[in-house]
Amino acid sequence: MDYQAILEEIYEEITPEIGRGKVADYIPALSSVDPQQFAFSIITTEGERYGVGDVQKQFSIQSISKVFTFTLALDIYSKNLYERLGVEPSGNPFNSLVQLEYEQGKPRNPFINAGAIAVTDSLIAHFKDDYKAFEVILNFIRNIADDNDISFDPEVSVSEMDHAYRNLALANLMKSFENLDNEPIVAVKTYFKHCAVSMNTQELSRAMLYLANGGTDPLTQKNYITPSQTRRINAVMLTCGHYDASGEFAFHVGLPGKSGVGGGIVAVVPGKMGICVWSPSLNRYGNSHAGTLALQKFVEKTGLSIF
Ligand code: GLN
Repeated sequence: MDYQAILEEIYEEITPEIGRGKVADYIPALSSVDPQQFAFSIITTEGERYGVGDVQKQFSIQSISKVFTFTLALDIYSKNLYERLGVEPSGNPFNSLVQLEYEQGKPRNPFINAGAIAVTDSLIAHFKDDYKAFEVILNFIRNIADDNDISFDPEVSVSEMDHAYRNLALANLMKSFENLDNEPIVAVKTYFKHCAVSMNTQELSRAMLYLANGGTDPLTQKNYITPSQTRRINAVMLTCGHYDASGEFAFHVGLPGKSGVGGGIVAVVPGKMGICVWSPSLNRYGNSHAGTLALQKFVEKTGLSIF
């Protein structure tokens, strides 16, 4: 299949949609990002790369980082992790509080904010230090992306900390139900740091390869998790990766995927490739508008859906 020609066709077709929607403005440092940007990268398990648009342009990975922290926590805690959080779609916005109260402080899944904060808290508890936990997270991302220069943008995390009322509310609520080991502010601060990691679509598509290959990087042969853990992460990405639009994403795209409010979306074609698309303007669910449509076109043109 001529992936490069397909990506170029998608880029042309998607151009009128780029910039439609709204960039995330509840994080002030993200509100000034130019909405007229777009990039789409894929990398096969053989290491062939294809891309269109600003594939080198760094952006804030935001909730995409939740895939990486979930991987680390699953590796450390195995099934015990599910004592603290579930794997059911929430059907609610990513930062919703009501469900958490009804369900006694146990988040529905690791990809909504409460679940991701609980996961980050579990990593801090394991490494006994928030700085150490963040170092492990960042090193893991560098490893799976095979790039040691990847770092985080403190301006973004500080800006988010300045407006952290809702995330702190989620963390405090979990603490009140004894589902948080550390102080809420420590868990939330570390969570913001990994959300503020900056990457481009090339690096993020590369970082998906271990999930496309049963937990082992097909290019470096480094093993991170078992095939069964990989299947579970992919399943949670499919069912929960787009919050209350996860059903729609499964319906239209049909791939394990995870979005972030920086406008990035990663996706996995099991056995075949890692994908990342980015365009900062978001739809009403907080998922990239043009990115979602571009992925939909990609599976229509290639037939590469898991269904
Ligand atoms: N850091 C963001 C937040 O907590 C992540 C949200 C997202 O990307 N959906 O609100």
